[in-house]
Amino acid sequence: MLSWPDVYMPPALAGINHPTLALFDSYKGKKVEITGEQNSIYVCGITPYDATHMGHAATYLAFDLVYRYLKASGKKVSFVENITDIDDPLLERAARDSQDWQELAASQIDLFREDMTALAVVPPNAYRGVIESMDEIISLVEQMIATGKTYELEGDIYLDSQQVDGAMQDLPLPLEKALVIFKERGGDPERVGKRHALDPLLWKARKGDDPYWSAPFGEGRPGWHIECTAIALKNLPETNPTSITLQAGGSDLVFPHHYMTALQAKALTGIEFASCYSHAGMIGLDGEKMSKSKGNLVFVSTLRQDGVSPALIRLALFADKYSSDRMWSKELLDSADVLLDRLLSAISRQEVAPTNEVVQEIVNALADDLDTPRVFVALSNWCARTEAGQVGGSPGEISRALDTYLGITL
Ligand code: ZN
Repeated sequence: MLSWPDVYMPPALAGINHPTLALFDSYKGKKVEITGEQNSIYVCGITPYDATHMGHAATYLAFDLVYRYLKASGKKVSFVENITDIDDPLLERAARDSQDWQELAASQIDLFREDMTALAVVPPNAYRGVIESMDEIISLVEQMIATGKTYELEGDIYLDSQQVDGAMQDLPLPLEKALVIFKERGGDPERVGKRHALDPLLWKARKGDDPYWSAPFGEGRPGWHIECTAIALKNLPETNPTSITLQAGGSDLVFPHHYMTALQAKALTGIEFASCYSHAGMIGLDGEKMSKSKGNLVFVSTLRQDGVSPALIRLALFADKYSSDRMWSKELLDSADVLLDRLLSAISRQEVAPTNEVVQEIVNALADDLDTPRVFVALSNWCARTEAGQVGGSPGEISRALDTYLGITL
């Protein structure tokens, strides 16, 4: 799948020390250090039946900070993102709107690329659609079947999760709650004949007029979770002692999607899937969760059409911690605009307050679980020092650092 244009990242300033990046792991409930020199990152992409809303933007911008930080600190990073270009919600939306599902997907993928380009999100090394990855997915399901840990139910193939070490002990929430959320998010816990209610569907046998692919184990299409397991394992280099370094996405993917992706990978490889599982919080509007069903989505493309600059969107979304659930508001944009104006005015001066210290403060804050509110305090204090007439810094250095670490071009 065509990605979007590469983004130039200025190199880090000389003399800046990059502490090891620590990210909060949603399953371990604590921060985990990303220590390796070679890192592999898998970020779950969109299902292309709607354009990029602020929740999407917040997620991709958060993990863009991770990518930028690791690169700036001299680490090697392989980054893969998928696009779920065949899935029930896409087919349902296309049917509802009497639209061809492939046309709908293509139009929304184009819009997503435009939004990512405008927001200066560094593109993945591999941007993989499910359809183009079908051979890899089928081959992974075959390997899963060969382990003897799967079973068939009326042509559908499930993973027998009880055969995976620690499966139920590792559940990130109580079983009763897991069953409810599993059902809400496309699972089938009540299906008669399943060995365990939470067993994930690997392959869905051909039904009705639904699109299907041929596989040695029957015609059909893959389950949602196995798509990401396959794309991650087939496209990222191994990161010992886990399969990959980081599995990332929105917090609505903590369960079941990322849990199941990891469970399937472990069933196959016998080792943990990721060293760290990091999740971005949800974005709401007017006190309510932003969601398709409520119809209260704010789209990146709409803001762009309204003349809001990408730098401002980035700043507004970085005002709060990436992992917190938060509200999108006009006030958020306004206060980001105040900081942006102060920064622009400061770097237009010939003399500015010392910059090495503030860049080091920014780097230290980002290394500590992407603490962007702390970055804001550091920048605001630097503006205040500059406004008070302190000298000794370089305007070029501060604007370069904003570009490198935050993707903000002044
Ligand atoms: Zn995924």
